[in-house]
Amino acid sequence: MRRPSELVAAGLVAPEREAAIAAVVERFAVAITPDMAELIERGDDSDPIARQFVPDAREMETRPEEDRDPIGDRRLSPLKGIVHRYPDRVLLKPSHVCPVYCRFCFRREQVGPGGESLTAAELEAALDYIRARPAIWEVIVTGGDPFLLSPRRLAAIVGALDAIPHLGVIRFHTRVPVAAPRLVGPALVRALRAEKAVYVAIHANHARELTPAAGAACRRLARAGIPLLGQSVLLKGVNDDAATLEALFRGLAAMRVKPYYLHHPDLARGTASFRPTLDEGRALMRQLRGRVSGICQPTYVLDLPGGYGKIPVGPCYATPRAPAGAWSIEDPDGRAHPYPPHSPDASD
Ligand code: SF4
Repeated sequence: MRRPSELVAAGLVAPEREAAIAAVVERFAVAITPDMAELIERGDDSDPIARQFVPDAREMETRPEEDRDPIGDRRLSPLKGIVHRYPDRVLLKPSHVCPVYCRFCFRREQVGPGGESLTAAELEAALDYIRARPAIWEVIVTGGDPFLLSPRRLAAIVGALDAIPHLGVIRFHTRVPVAAPRLVGPALVRALRAEKAVYVAIHANHARELTPAAGAACRRLARAGIPLLGQSVLLKGVNDDAATLEALFRGLAAMRVKPYYLHHPDLARGTASFRPTLDEGRALMRQLRGRVSGICQPTYVLDLPGGYGKIPVGPCYATPRAPAGAWSIEDPDGRAHPYPPHSPDASD
């Protein structure tokens, strides 16, 4: 489903909103898979699944702090298809197509059906860039969504990366196991086979996305020996309360997906309605700390605008005190404790 008329016909957009939505669709790509459309409560614009995928007129409002390239990918791209932000890892972006287009997407100006995928020659040049730099230890294959590539193309990329001696890890970032889980079939899983460690990071933001079909897709990947990580975005009106986050992270962990990052939303154009404040995000992380075990705790991170990297911005529970080496540590109920416990100047 990509066109306003299709969204209206499917009952996802009220007919009187069609004209406003048309302007949004002109500017930013729209796609909703049948799996995700099925989850949306019709007639409820505040439905957390609808919020993520159904276009909204507020996307036409751009705030001064918002940017077409909010995390500086362009500045850090030495050639097409590569983003090189940290010395030991690069992003490899073979395609710009996604199964769904998230309304808060940080790469919304680059992804979409008209987005430029790499030609065979461009992909080879990107691989040569990686081959020529022994400091690169990890390649993150992203996009767009690399799991929309044909298994044949995916296997060729995995094979080429697997043959680069200095790489330790090949990581895929994908929304497919949740948004179109039936695509994770035997051919796709076979395409991920490698001697090197292959990780798959799965993007999900609400426990309702974790359907039995998504669970089966994760099982197929896990049974092939692939470690699974969860990537989520903290989104107003979708998951910005402790109970919703708790259900999401418990659900992911129970599907063998370790919650890895909770991203603070980036300053992409037209996404202000999704952004909580950092204070709100930190307060939520504090609430989660006492409620769920470590395997359900992601790191709350902010990608600094301008391309300066991902920074943990969660609450801090340790405060230095005098004398040197003494600390005050906060427990899950908010009580401060001196550490070490018998330090004479830290016991009051
Ligand atoms: S799946 Fe990822 S890249 Fe694609 S629209 Fe959503 S956030 Fe953006």
